[in-house]
Amino acid sequence: AGLADGVVRSIEGLGDRVGQALFEPVIRVGVTGLARAGKTVFITSLIANLMDRGRMPGLLAQGEGRILAAYLQPQPDVTLPRFDYESHLAALTGPEPHWPESTRTVSELRLSLRVRPAGLLSGVTGPRVIHLDIVDYPGEWLLDLALLDKSYEEWAAEVLARIGARSEAAAYLAQVTEVDTAAPLDEPVAQALAAGFTAYLHAARAAGFYDCTPGRFILPGDLAGSPVVTFAPLPGGKAGRGSLRAEMARRYDAYKREVVKPFFRDHFAKIDRQVVLVDALDAIHKGPQAVEDMRRAMADILSAFRPGRNAFLTQLFLGRRVERILFAATKADHLHHAQHGRLTGIMAALLREARDRAEFAGATTQAMALAALRATVEERVSHNGEMLDCVRGRLLETGRQAAFYAGDLPDDPGQLLAPARAGAKEWLGRDYQVMRFAPAPLNLRPGEGPPHIRLDRAAQFLLGDKL
Ligand code: GDP
Repeated sequence: AGLADGVVRSIEGLGDRVGQALFEPVIRVGVTGLARAGKTVFITSLIANLMDRGRMPGLLAQGEGRILAAYLQPQPDVTLPRFDYESHLAALTGPEPHWPESTRTVSELRLSLRVRPAGLLSGVTGPRVIHLDIVDYPGEWLLDLALLDKSYEEWAAEVLARIGARSEAAAYLAQVTEVDTAAPLDEPVAQALAAGFTAYLHAARAAGFYDCTPGRFILPGDLAGSPVVTFAPLPGGKAGRGSLRAEMARRYDAYKREVVKPFFRDHFAKIDRQVVLVDALDAIHKGPQAVEDMRRAMADILSAFRPGRNAFLTQLFLGRRVERILFAATKADHLHHAQHGRLTGIMAALLREARDRAEFAGATTQAMALAALRATVEERVSHNGEMLDCVRGRLLETGRQAAFYAGDLPDDPGQLLAPARAGAKEWLGRDYQVMRFAPAPLNLRPGEGPPHIRLDRAAQFLLGDKL
């Protein structure tokens, strides 16, 4: 009997191992959002909370104690930069905590979870390993999708019409009037124009405009200085071969072919689950024009998840689809939780609007307000005889603790999202401007992850069904 037992056990063991190698599901989770939306902090905190067993009761597998281990592994895509988790975490957990460096390019990290199956299965099968391939990439790059449908002439005419009245564009537009677009290409002239246009894009972003394509001008990744990002919109007119304008058009086409399409093919089309992060509070603080611009940019970003919209995408996806899309407002720790519902309502309205224009090919979507790393605590403060729900944190600049009341968000998202009308109201007050908090000091003892707001719910929506 002993021998037979041993044989049975070793066959079972073999089965386990074969089964494991064959059946270790991989979930590719894309994390995107425009610059400073909070991608780096989100990924760093998510990984730290999973690895350090942070407070994640909303992630059911974690709440039920079924996640037995979480560990980093070499990523499968060896040519892609690795998400620099260790440096980012070190920035947040050092003796003088500071915010990590933001996303500048696409990067990846594999986090593997050893999970005990739920319910009945748990008695039958042993723990399984599930790999999360987290892919971080700039939302600006998604906006480039719109360029694929446009020729250089169309794009340039559109951009010039749009920026004509903006003060941020004055210097670039002056530069354009001084060049002879039909003259033979002179590389320094092309470079000066590209630099001028890039400077405009940065200024426009700072002022709260979100239409900032081409995406690689703001975040060039490893393309900085290459001809493929050395072009700019010029007015139409006669221009023969070899002219400045013809060369700009040639580079624009190369940009679409060599930069935009490969990104969608190599990275975007492989994503299973996606989170789109939005610094909605910043746009709301900047005022109605910024909100209106954010609304359009988010509709454009979300439209990338409707493959039917674009022939190139349809062909790329070939029936595959992004299964879940989480649309989340970040940095909710700037507001007392009494306001979180309203922030979620605003995100839901933005999402609904994008969804109403076309279905996301059956993807499940959810809107949420979260803080990947909570830098404040809540406090009720009496002010002129009124009790205000405030948040208190340590200011980045002075290191001093202070409590703030950012202001109220509207009950009805429509009040905020209706196309900017004359006299549209400002929603977040002047206090918001100075609310630049330092990250709260973290010391990760076993069993402690960074404090957060609803990061566990976000994880549950993105992965919960697979754990
Ligand atoms: P990325 O450009 O999308 O990678 O943005 P980051 O993750 O680098 O975040 C940009 C900045 O937003 C950070 O440097 C922080 O100042 C702030 N931030 C991001 N997440 C949070 C958060 O959860 N709470 C607070 N208070 N600030 C945050």
